[in-house]
Amino acid sequence: MSTTRKRVAVIGLGTAGSMAAWRLASRGAEVVGYEQFGIAHDRSAHAGESRIFRTAYFEDPEYVPLLRTAKALWRQLERETGTDLLTLAGNLMLGEASSQMANVSDSIVKFDVDASIIPLDEALTRWPHHPFHEGDAVVLDREAGYLRPELAVLTASYRAESLGAQLRAYTPVDGIEVKDGGIWVSADGRSERFDHVVVTTGPWAAKLLPELAPLVEVRKAVSAWFVAKERGAFDPAGFPCFIRTTPEEFYGLPAMSGNGLKLGLSGTVNLPVGDPDALDRTVPIEEVKPFRELVADSFPALYPDPVRVSAYMEGYTRDGHGVVGQLGGGEGITVVTGLSGHGFKLAPTFGEIAADYALHGGSTNTIPVLNPDRFLSLPARQRTNDVM
Ligand SMILES: Cc1cc2nc3c(=O)[nH]c(=O)nc-3n(C[C@H](O)[C@H](O)[C@H](O)COP(=O)(O)OP(=O)(O)OC[C@H]3O[C@@H](n4cnc5c(N)ncnc54)[C@H](O)[C@@H]3O)c2cc1C
Repeated sequence: MSTTRKRVAVIGLGTAGSMAAWRLASRGAEVVGYEQFGIAHDRSAHAGESRIFRTAYFEDPEYVPLLRTAKALWRQLERETGTDLLTLAGNLMLGEASSQMANVSDSIVKFDVDASIIPLDEALTRWPHHPFHEGDAVVLDREAGYLRPELAVLTASYRAESLGAQLRAYTPVDGIEVKDGGIWVSADGRSERFDHVVVTTGPWAAKLLPELAPLVEVRKAVSAWFVAKERGAFDPAGFPCFIRTTPEEFYGLPAMSGNGLKLGLSGTVNLPVGDPDALDRTVPIEEVKPFRELVADSFPALYPDPVRVSAYMEGYTRDGHGVVGQLGGGEGITVVTGLSGHGFKLAPTFGEIAADYALHGGSTNTIPVLNPDRFLSLPARQRTNDVM
């Protein structure tokens, strides 16, 4: 039996990359992680204090086993590091009984998710600050809650380092080349050989791999924080996170120790970003307006103006599912990108899938909707792709 350790580069130590580095280092690989900025910086997809974790999944019920793997890995990372990353305080799915809410019901039935349909009159009594509408289906998912994203990226990265991974912060990778039986990564004026490369560059994915450009559109996503008029009104113990799918698309999480709410808007309101290096992180008044209107219409318990607005970025695919696997098959490059606004909770599973590909050339942890080949079949890579 060969005892040679596989040498694996992880490019981009954000959400998926930090988890891939941790999983690879745990499983015995020699890992080098490259990050163009500092570890857990706030310039891309993984910042803003909180992310929803949920299991009754409106995107597709087939995610439920991946979500349960993710939950087990979140708990493992917490145990290994003594860090509190995931709080299961519930999530409410709200909306008309549309196809998306049908997926929620299918998830519950098919995978026995701990969730219940709550009659509207009961919901109004239990959660008076939630914006319910006549005709809403209300589902309380108890296998749900919220994650601490910056802490999670830091914890996974430094856990990987404690297991032997090299972390190279402020080191942008500018090229990947397949040659001489290996994959060569160039950064900082030199090129190094690896057995496998995991590309987790998030919104920058198409800069390093231009063949991803037709698959992933980068959009700006704004979060806004509002303060409650009454102290403690949004304590997570009594106010679960929520996602509304119809007639508008928005979501919220308790913030400021229960004294406020963080809100996000989904859908076309999130504007395309042509170049991720040129994201305008200021939020003009016209982009704040829909948040003020939402609060005026739906959250009378909040003061009307946000006390903080922050802009992030995310890569979206046409069908709303990530691109997770090998491009063109078999050439030693695994990508995890285009996570389409719902990738944080699943990141440890994506890290495990990337480790499966790097160490064994395939994964039994993935599902067909994530397969990159669903969009196009790409030829094996034989050329260098420098940053454009
Ligand atoms: C506002 C907002 C709210 C969200 N809410 C939720 C939620 O509630 N629940 C949920 O599950 N998901 C949520 N998501 C989605 C989730 O946060 C993203 O899917 C996830 O963070 C994307 O991870 P990523 O690894 O693809 O990208 P990132 O986390 O951005 O990581 C990419 C990393 O690669 C680095 N990089 C790029 N190019 C290079 C290079 N050439 N060399 C070296 N490093 C490079 C970047 O600097 C970055 O650190 C939300 C997203 C946003 C924006």
